[in-house]
Amino acid sequence: MGLTRLFTDVDFQRAGLEMHALMERLYPICRSITGQGIRDTFTALRGEIPLEVHRVPSGTPVFDWTVPREWNLRDAYIKDARGVKVVDLQRSSLHVVGYSVPVHERMQLRDLRPHLHSLPEHPDWIPYRASYYRENWGFCLTHRQLESLQDGEYEVVIDSTLEDGQLDYAECVVEGREEAEVLISAHACHPSLCNDNLSGVVLSTCLARLLAERRPRLTYRFVFIPTIIGSITWLARNEERAGRIRHGLVVTCVGDAGAFTYKRSRRGDADVDRAAAHVLRHSGFEHEVIDFFPYGYDERNYCSPGFDLPVGSLSRTTHGRFPEYHTSADNLDFVRPRHLAESLQVYLRLLETLENDGTWLNTNPKCEPQLGRRGLYNVIGGLKSGQTEELAMFWVLNQCDGRHSLLDIAERSGIAFDTIAHVADRLAEHGLLTPARS
Ligand code: ZN
Repeated sequence: MGLTRLFTDVDFQRAGLEMHALMERLYPICRSITGQGIRDTFTALRGEIPLEVHRVPSGTPVFDWTVPREWNLRDAYIKDARGVKVVDLQRSSLHVVGYSVPVHERMQLRDLRPHLHSLPEHPDWIPYRASYYRENWGFCLTHRQLESLQDGEYEVVIDSTLEDGQLDYAECVVEGREEAEVLISAHACHPSLCNDNLSGVVLSTCLARLLAERRPRLTYRFVFIPTIIGSITWLARNEERAGRIRHGLVVTCVGDAGAFTYKRSRRGDADVDRAAAHVLRHSGFEHEVIDFFPYGYDERNYCSPGFDLPVGSLSRTTHGRFPEYHTSADNLDFVRPRHLAESLQVYLRLLETLENDGTWLNTNPKCEPQLGRRGLYNVIGGLKSGQTEELAMFWVLNQCDGRHSLLDIAERSGIAFDTIAHVADRLAEHGLLTPARS
């Protein structure tokens, strides 16, 4: 055992730029919960991290659901009477309602109108819509585009297929020294949307790469899935493995400028819940810790009562709380490298806390050991930081009776976990602490 400082050498500025650059490459891909777009996304990620792609055939039962038919979209447009494409998929992957059935018709504007979706309150933004489980078709466009359409006949083309195929999800496993797993789950099924979707994908990719370059204690399982149906499918196929998950995080909405939000697991007091709250409290970033609710992203399946896994979700502005959510304004400008880098910093702090948490025993529990004789007392001579370290030592020595973890001690003392872990390491080096369990 001993303190593992996994991430002291990370260049956050560079990491932020690299994550954003990867996002730029993924942004134009026309993704959905199934189909070529999500496969192309995994192919792109394969250039960054080792990824195993799993294929599940359409029609496979997964708990109360069935893996849907595969949807692919080649082209789509609306042409006016002069032959001008007034809406064109090639300009934005958001223009077509996800899972639209194929259409090739000439129709009057009044008949087309019910199939057109816009946002009157944000007339320059294209909304994002999908209709996965009810056959339908439609276009999304800016309100200005919609208002400029003249009465008359239009040619409407959606060149899509909805047929038996497969659902794809991908996994990257970073083996640790222990079998206990940390599940990191990101959804990768939205088309050109950055904060909701791609920010989680690129942050997870960066975490996987950084962890693979080191030797972590815990095993990390990164899953990239289509949201909801993907977590249901993953859980249906990994029911046994789910028991190994010691901590889990759903990663999304980590690239906007907003305050951090940690949503607790259903349990509410899992180690990951306590560690996340602790790390945020000492992070210097504005933040909020909120209780679990059975909506949002894939945490609602990981935390369904039959699994009740210790999976929380750490984001910045959450699901539905930013006006750009599910619109074309959730784009490459909305997500900034700096914000991705800050999120990376908080995530790494959290993972380091989970890595280093443990329970120790004071080998000299009858009265305080003589720290001065061991060069552990007053070493930094009256400096504020020295005082904190000494205080942290007294807390660790007092609480290490085999019943309190380092995170318990950090919480009770109000001292940051990394200081607690650092002094525990020094005390262990001097033989004053020993692991309570091997
Ligand atoms: Zn979404």
